[in-house]
Amino acid sequence: MSEKARKPAPSTVAAQALGWTDPTFRDLVPPIHPSVSYERSEDGGYPGGHSYGRDQNPTFDQAEAVIAALEGGAGAMLFASGMAAATTLFEILEPGAHIVAPRQMYWTIQLWLRDLAARGRIELDLVPNGDLDALRAALRPGATRLVWVETPSNPMCAVTDIAATAEVAHAAGARVAADGTLATPVLTRALELGADVVMHSATKQLNGHADVLAGALVTASRDESWERARFERGYRGAVPGPFDAWLLLRGLRTLVLRVGASARGALRVAEFLSTHEDVIEVFYPGLPTHPGHALAASQMHGGFGPMLSFRVRGGERRARATASSLELFHQASSLGGVESLVEHRASVEGPGTEVPSDLLRLSIGIEDPEDLVSDLVDALRLTR
Ligand code: PLP
Repeated sequence: MSEKARKPAPSTVAAQALGWTDPTFRDLVPPIHPSVSYERSEDGGYPGGHSYGRDQNPTFDQAEAVIAALEGGAGAMLFASGMAAATTLFEILEPGAHIVAPRQMYWTIQLWLRDLAARGRIELDLVPNGDLDALRAALRPGATRLVWVETPSNPMCAVTDIAATAEVAHAAGARVAADGTLATPVLTRALELGADVVMHSATKQLNGHADVLAGALVTASRDESWERARFERGYRGAVPGPFDAWLLLRGLRTLVLRVGASARGALRVAEFLSTHEDVIEVFYPGLPTHPGHALAASQMHGGFGPMLSFRVRGGERRARATASSLELFHQASSLGGVESLVEHRASVEGPGTEVPSDLLRLSIGIEDPEDLVSDLVDALRLTR
């Protein structure tokens, strides 16, 4: 897109995928590049700008540019999954590096961190989500390399002040990485709030159709650690296939519409559940009763995300029965797709989880929210 007086809004950036067209045939939709290798010129260079598919593919370029533009970052890198993106950030730290992460966060990343700590690869402190005093107490100036933030957190919807966390972490010489999966750049731009790098499971709302596994990192600056992450990705070949990158770019075009629809639906469902006599507690930052509501409203713009959780009166048995009785909600893992899902998280996370056993996590898609509410009414009635 050329320089204009008016900066294109995120919905324009996404819908047009930055307006790139293919130089050869002027395609509006980019081609998929399946090649893993690229021809050299006579002088031995790579005139096409790509050499080998373990870390490069022209099909990545546009998706990376769109994600970087939406986040307001200096660059983005695609990965084979959100986990591949997250683990790269920890792998590039020197042995024994100290990391501070929240007590409640996406379970598999925390398991990985605990495993690294148990093997002596890192030192780890888990602090209560959003507790700045606990963060200050945990930080070891000069030794803490990374503070991990996930807001809202999966699945308990704890809210963390990104700007305040960045200020405290930076004062101790630590970098801040934010898992932006649940907010997406449509609702929160963590780099503008002071995070150094944002990580996404692009498997979720960025792609949005439950048919691609991918991850992304977006950096505030192309510094040394960004280049190390690039090498790490290349050493491991931790990249998506070109077909997946192409599907991701297609999904990104409708991101803003989908994020808005899911967030409106999630708020409607959360409001309904919070009035139901068989629901003990609802976790959704869009509810004014949520302890992090004011903070979420100040750092999330246009909604509070697609995910919420609630505790069912009657314990684990009834919670599981309710999940099984839902008809529109599919009982399945993951979140951020166009179809709504329900999951009993405590059993997925297993021993050591802080998630209550009577909790169900919902991911709200883009269906009519009244149909979803009606499905919940029926399931809660059937299991009474
Ligand atoms: N971060 C969050 C908040 C997630 O919910 C997930 C997956 O559910 C991940 C990271 C990991 O992403 P992926 O499944 O793409 O590896």
